[in-house]
Amino acid sequence: MLEIKNLHVSIGERKILDGLDLTVHDGEVAAIMGPNGTGKSTLSYVISGREGYEVTQGEIRLDGLSLLELAPWERAAKGVFLAFQYPVEIPGVATMTFLKAALNAQRRARGEEELQTPDLMKRVNDAAAKLGVGKEMLRRPLNSGFSGGEKKRMDILQMALLEPSLGILDETDSGLDIDALRVVSEGVNALRDKKRSFLVITHYQRLLDYIKPDTVHVMAKGRIQRSGGPQLALELEESGYKDYIGEAA
Ligand code: ADP
Ligand code: MG
Ligand code: MG
Repeated sequence: MLEIKNLHVSIGERKILDGLDLTVHDGEVAAIMGPNGTGKSTLSYVISGREGYEVTQGEIRLDGLSLLELAPWERAAKGVFLAFQYPVEIPGVATMTFLKAALNAQRRARGEEELQTPDLMKRVNDAAAKLGVGKEMLRRPLNSGFSGGEKKRMDILQMALLEPSLGILDETDSGLDIDALRVVSEGVNALRDKKRSFLVITHYQRLLDYIKPDTVHVMAKGRIQRSGGPQLALELEESGYKDYIGEAA
């Protein structure tokens, strides 16, 4: 379970998050919606531990553990996964090789024994088959020449392999095409689990037609302004964010 309490975050002189409270239970898919520039991406970066953000107050706990005291790789080892963070292209390295290395890196960080190649390949192949990733794609260099949808599929595959306890998806405001939208949502839906929480961050309601959230939170002015069920997303589609920012959205 993710618990964020009274989170205040600045970038340089500027205050971005201003007393944000949010709880996401195990098994819950929480959507965060809000206008551009309100700090949604900042929130996902602060949870994952990216540099450049100053937390001046508050706490973030995952299953009781204080994340703010941990380095980014330690947070990842504890099960935090931020999707689409590194759309890396690695020209010389086959996708399979990269995924095997990622899995063993996680095991090392957790103090677990590394897996041997046959075991690794089986895990990657099983996860790939579940998500409809062809063997041919696993032989190609990571992300190079992949379509937008294929890149998203690889990212979801990586998430499936690393089995996060908290998956964060920050749909960039450029938006996803319909192919990528389907890939991402099918992947997330396949990974829904009673022990796993998701934070699905989006500016538009569209993604939530595919990933049905359990809860919807409206974020504006650096904090959660309102929380509700899935119907809240539909309401926002009608009314926009003007009620939350005090001007025409
Ligand atoms: P959202 O994802 O909701 O659109 P962001 O978290 O990306 O919002 O940004 C929140 C605010 O912080 C914006 O006003 C943005 O301009 C500002 N901001 C984001 N990153 C930086 C940065 N690296 N330096 C300065 N300001 C930033
Ligand atoms: Mg948990
Ligand atoms: Mg953003």
